[in-house]
Amino acid sequence: MKVRNKIPPFRLILKPLNDEAANLPKFKWASEKVGSRHQLGGTPTFIQQEEWPDCPSCSNKMSFYGQLDSLNDEFVIADCGMLYVFLCFDCNETISIIQSY
Ligand SMILES: [Zn+2]
Repeated sequence: MKVRNKIPPFRLILKPLNDEAANLPKFKWASEKVGSRHQLGGTPTFIQQEEWPDCPSCSNKMSFYGQLDSLNDEFVIADCGMLYVFLCFDCNETISIIQSY
C-alpha cells in the first residue's frame, strides 16, 4: 500500500542546548556514522529488514516521521541502533520501532 503522507527528507543536526550536552562523550568504538543518522521524513535507513507498521486504528500504512540515532556509549539504543517513529496523520496514532546491529 502507498504511503499517503510522505514528508520530504531532512537531516537533523544536533545542536547542544547546554554544557552537559555540548561535552557529552563520544562513542569509543562505534563507526563514524553512528550518532549522526538523525533524520526527519524521507525514507528510513533501516539497519535490518524493512519494518513498516500499519495504523492500529485505520489499518493504512503509517507515515514515516523520523529516525533518532544512538547518542553515545551511555545513551545507546540496543547495539548502536536507532529509533524509528511512524504516525498516522488521520488518527494521530504513533508507533516506534527499534532496530540495531
Ligand atoms: Zn490511522
